[in-house]
Amino acid sequence: MTTAAPRPVLEVRDLVTHFPVRAGVVKAVDGVSFSIERGKTLCVVGESGSGKSVTARSILQIVDAPGRIVAGSMVLNRADGSSVDLATLDPRGRAIRAIRGAEIAMIFQEPMSSLNPAITVGRQIGEPVNLHRGTPWEGALARARELLGLVSNPDAAARVNAYPHQFSGGMRQRARIAMALACEPQLIIADEPTTALDVTVQAQILDLLQDLAKKANSALILLTHDLGVVARYANRVIVMYGGRVVETAPAAELYARPAHPYTRGLMASIPRLDGDTRQRLVPIEGSPPDLSALPPGCAFAPRCKLASERCRAERPVLREIGPNHLKSCFVDD
Ligand code: ADP
Ligand code: MG
Repeated sequence: MTTAAPRPVLEVRDLVTHFPVRAGVVKAVDGVSFSIERGKTLCVVGESGSGKSVTARSILQIVDAPGRIVAGSMVLNRADGSSVDLATLDPRGRAIRAIRGAEIAMIFQEPMSSLNPAITVGRQIGEPVNLHRGTPWEGALARARELLGLVSNPDAAARVNAYPHQFSGGMRQRARIAMALACEPQLIIADEPTTALDVTVQAQILDLLQDLAKKANSALILLTHDLGVVARYANRVIVMYGGRVVETAPAAELYARPAHPYTRGLMASIPRLDGDTRQRLVPIEGSPPDLSALPPGCAFAPRCKLASERCRAERPVLREIGPNHLKSCFVDD
């Protein structure tokens, strides 16, 4: 007997997000597709400027002006069987505001900028509970205390009346996680949530985030430039370059058989703590593409040692090269 694949909580298809600027059009997201199921972690990896944050912000319709979604669909499938295409919602409308922080929560890189310095941590954690669930403030604050204890330790619950500046960087990000979990979202998007933190705190915070997301059976999208993070947390990986997905695979498969020259380049550029210490770090030569002037062919071709005339002339599309493993590359064809 075969069981049907679970319905993804989010299905993104051919998402295109542009920034019309004076110099032209910045194609920050240029035809991105992926899906994610509840209880799973999807890592989106790529160098700075590859379109990770704009992809995440597109999902919640919080792309900075003058950016806008120009094509694609982003279908949110709810547990009750209903669905909504987030791409069709008005960014300022009631429907998306009811989803943000309730059905889909986002955690940003710098916790200070997403916490209000003038409001106690407890009120900020309780706010989504009050706003989305209509729980009276007394109950919302009790929930905030409970959540703060959950993301830290029972003593931390007593600090519910503290202000963000009275917390350490790590504790602020724990509070942000508590806020994200407050309404038991189906999907949590974390955008480089530990990049601003001390290395020793990073793993604790990510372990906590994944553990709590799993317990709540929420899907987790983790954006990172760090392949070490990917190796530790991802079930599935999408590798982005120049606003496009260049490779996607289950995490174990990607590490066993990285196929795209860019993915291989990223892997060669991470320090190996466990491996041969004589092996040198090989950074990828060249710089990321100008997204307002992408070449006609493969966006990576100008930096790719294996690029041919075809790579420079024709844009490769994603195609399956193994079970659930896709790449967009002509090399080895
Ligand atoms: P990543 O998160 O992978 O580092 P981003 O998604 O933040 O990359 O950005 C992708 C590209 O989108 C950037 O290189 C930049 O050119 C463009 N971009 C992002 N925000 C803006 C903006 N507000 N105005 C113009 N271009 C932007
Ligand atoms: Mg980013």
